[in-house]
Amino acid sequence: MIRFAFYDAKPYDIPSFEKYGRENDIEFKFFETRLTPDTINLASGCDGVCIFVNDIVNADVIDALQAEGVRMIALRCAGYNNVDIEHAFGRIHVFNVPAYSPYAVAEHAMALLLTSIRRIHKAYIRTRDFNFSLNGLTGFELHDKTVGVVGTGKIGRIFMDICRGFGMKVIAYDKFPAKDSGIEYVSLDELFARSDVISLHCPLTGETRHTINATSIKKLKKGVVIINTSRGALIDSEALLEGIKERKIGAACLDVYEEEANVFFHDFSGHIVADDVLARLISMPNVIVTSHQAFLTEEALSNIAETTVKNILQFEAEGQCVNELCYRCPKFDTCSHELHKCF
Ligand code: NAD
Repeated sequence: MIRFAFYDAKPYDIPSFEKYGRENDIEFKFFETRLTPDTINLASGCDGVCIFVNDIVNADVIDALQAEGVRMIALRCAGYNNVDIEHAFGRIHVFNVPAYSPYAVAEHAMALLLTSIRRIHKAYIRTRDFNFSLNGLTGFELHDKTVGVVGTGKIGRIFMDICRGFGMKVIAYDKFPAKDSGIEYVSLDELFARSDVISLHCPLTGETRHTINATSIKKLKKGVVIINTSRGALIDSEALLEGIKERKIGAACLDVYEEEANVFFHDFSGHIVADDVLARLISMPNVIVTSHQAFLTEEALSNIAETTVKNILQFEAEGQCVNELCYRCPKFDTCSHELHKCF
């Protein structure tokens, strides 16, 4: 029996992991708490930890996990910016779920965009109160508008296809443009200048942190709609708020937020939210916030559990895993480890 401490467990995670775990002789011990330096001991006696986007896996946590005998860190998500991958090398093997349903995230991005520009969030509240006035609900059409997509990987490309279906002109920026893709790549500055809608689909790295900041906001078209379903820190939240207050930014659709770690996934209704920037953003009529929900479909939850279990089983059987994250691999994100074991 393989044992995993499952941190930050939510009611919607448990059924699919219980099912795939039971079928494959893996015991998941579910804990509501996140993995932090204070909760490492919950993994005592476990072969691995299963973690999500807001668990903290810095060098100290990795050392302490290793001391507890933990050999595997199974991320049940694609992004791994919360894990010190370099420090993990030679100590603990780290796997992720690189794609569980890129459609879930891309469709959520479009859902946010349509909700925002057609004021569905306002109309829903009004009609529930039998207020059938249309004042203030004028939207705009996507047809013929230009969307700029930053990051043309799995999610970015599906989002681009969806936008094409709406008759939008699609331009993109990627640090590693896809060859022969037919995508119209432009510089980031050109994308900022031309786009009516900007959607962020690149990973969070030192380079992409605060892609949207006070300087880049000056380069944007007035009235631009910004969508972020990727990682919160791609946007400098205070600069975004200023851009909205100055009416430079027409709307913001945020599924992720820079300081989401202690807020998202929890019920704070009835509490006073301490984060002034988040509170002010949410108070804006042209800002929609969902709490890192873009992945949350039945299909994605099932795929996440299935791939996580496959990762664990493959590693236990072969000593390597197709989805291992290793900073030494030549193509970090996509290395298949076919020819060598990382360590
Ligand atoms: P992917 O790896 O398929 O694509 C990422 C793309 O970003 C690649 O084309 C890559 O070349 C590009 N890129 C890398 N560095 C860049 C840079 N400096 N500037 C511009 N582009 C750069 O990833 P994906 O599956 O499409 O996921 C994209 C992001 O979505 C993930 O990093 C993750 O943070 C986020 N995500 C969010 C949710 C959610 O629920 N909100 C769910 C899954 C993934």
